Amino acid sequence: MREHFDVLVVGAGLSGIAAGYHLQTHCPGRTYAILEGRERMGGTWDLFRYPGIRSDSDMFTLGFSFRPWTDAKAIADGDAILRYLQDTAQAFGIDRHIRYQHKVTEAAWSTEEALWTVTVVAAGRRRQFSCSFLFLCAGYYNYARGHLPDFPGREAFRGRVVHPQFWTPDIDYAGKRVVVIGSGATAVTLVPELAKQAAHVTMLQRSPTYIVARPSQDRIANALRRVLPAKLAYGLTRWKNVLLGQYFYALARRHPAKAKERLVEMVRCELGHDYDVATHFTPSYNPWDQRLCLVPDADLFAALREGRAEVVTDQIERFTPDGLRLASDRELAADLVVTATGLEVQLMGGIPVMVDGRLVDWSERLTYKGMMFSGVPNFAIAFGYTNASWTLKADLTARYVTRLLNAMASRGIRQVTPQPAGPVEAQPFLDFTSGYVRRALSLLPRQGHRKPWRVHQSYTRDLMALSFGGIDDEMEFSNPEPAKRRAA
Ligand SMILES: Cc1cc2nc3c(=O)[nH]c(=O)nc-3n(C[C@H](O)[C@H](O)[C@H](O)COP(=O)(O)OP(=O)(O)OC[C@H]3O[C@@H](n4cnc5c(N)ncnc54)[C@H](O)[C@@H]3O)c2cc1C
Repeated sequence: MREHFDVLVVGAGLSGIAAGYHLQTHCPGRTYAILEGRERMGGTWDLFRYPGIRSDSDMFTLGFSFRPWTDAKAIADGDAILRYLQDTAQAFGIDRHIRYQHKVTEAAWSTEEALWTVTVVAAGRRRQFSCSFLFLCAGYYNYARGHLPDFPGREAFRGRVVHPQFWTPDIDYAGKRVVVIGSGATAVTLVPELAKQAAHVTMLQRSPTYIVARPSQDRIANALRRVLPAKLAYGLTRWKNVLLGQYFYALARRHPAKAKERLVEMVRCELGHDYDVATHFTPSYNPWDQRLCLVPDADLFAALREGRAEVVTDQIERFTPDGLRLASDRELAADLVVTATGLEVQLMGGIPVMVDGRLVDWSERLTYKGMMFSGVPNFAIAFGYTNASWTLKADLTARYVTRLLNAMASRGIRQVTPQPAGPVEAQPFLDFTSGYVRRALSLLPRQGHRKPWRVHQSYTRDLMALSFGGIDDEMEFSNPEPAKRRAA
């Protein structure tokens, strides 16, 4: 027996909660369930437990469009974000739709039935569900594994090695010499936090990243909140941050040399002219070829200035019993090594997806409006922006799915399939040079050179296209005849 829902959402993280809200608000007649592999909701914000875990974008855009973020901090701590997600799910009754410990292991579309059959392992037992529309909100990385380069001699090291994705509360760093390998958002979050208790923290990076300091509190937002109703103040701040973000992004892409100069100069102002900013904080790439790293209240720079932490730009030759030997011959003594070396990108929640008996090879598919795929019926994913908060796109995508479902209902249509109506030049899914993206690019779908196959990293463009634009462009609405009727 298959339990049936009109819509199945996979994943109860931020995107799955947004999906639940939009489905029940805009398609009240449809049934839905959220299948979550873990025992709790929250996704990223429940999984990651390393010291100092926080957002690196502001909560007015990382928060939902339909529920104001009311804490004073705009760059928020992980547990405050998790609480916000839990409160939102509870306030709207979305939590009642979540089936925990339901890990989806396969999804198969049948055109004859116009249904997805979704196989799940729940409490060790295999079960099947069916649905008319499958909405994957399964994030973008592997929960079981982080990216870990093969460092020679690791087994010889006498201290502890930990990946931030698997941080546990028993990890003791007080009074210890800690080396954090990496230069991304996780590393720059960990370093000042660990430095509060550790004997010394070294951030060991192969190459530098652009790092921008910003206040953790948004003074304008807090002032607006004092005089305006919460929803209005939130909406205004959200738009302010969206537009400012887009403006600075466009400026940096148009004038990369000037942007680079300005970003590096800002670091120099923080660390002083004697500091070797050229080596440690001047990347070789242009701003926004990779995501910029944000440090709230310049906490990383304070730790460096006070000598509690240090940045070393070098290559690891090998682990030694006492730490790390670097290509420059320098030795870094360590009791604890934190490998902030990144995520392993995984789309589709690691779920093999079949369409009429054939396994979908995503690298052969084109993404449609950054959320559906050529030739894959009644299927969408939530995938956020690389240059702005994830929620902005997740929210728009969920709303678009409800528009599509309502159009199908009013036209009496069972199947919607994106299909290119003319030639489309395939391009990489993401225009980003970060290691975790480059490692995964060959497995990812492609984007096209033109609408609606192009992925826009722009909230305002997507808002126009997904909330107000048509839904018929290169979308096939069909009612394939069931086999039984065809045979009769
Ligand atoms: C440390 C860290 C900090 C970040 N900070 C920011 C930030 O400040 N701003 C920003 O915009 N983005 C940030 N991101 C990106 C972040 O992942 C997104 O913002 C957001 O949390 C993604 O939400 P999601 O619901 O799409 O995915 P996730 O949070 O990854 O949730 C996916 C859910 O799907 C479930 N799932 C996956 N596969 C299956 C399956 N097969 N069956 C059942 N369930 C499944 C998972 O268990 C999980 O609960 C950060 C990421 C990390 C790792």
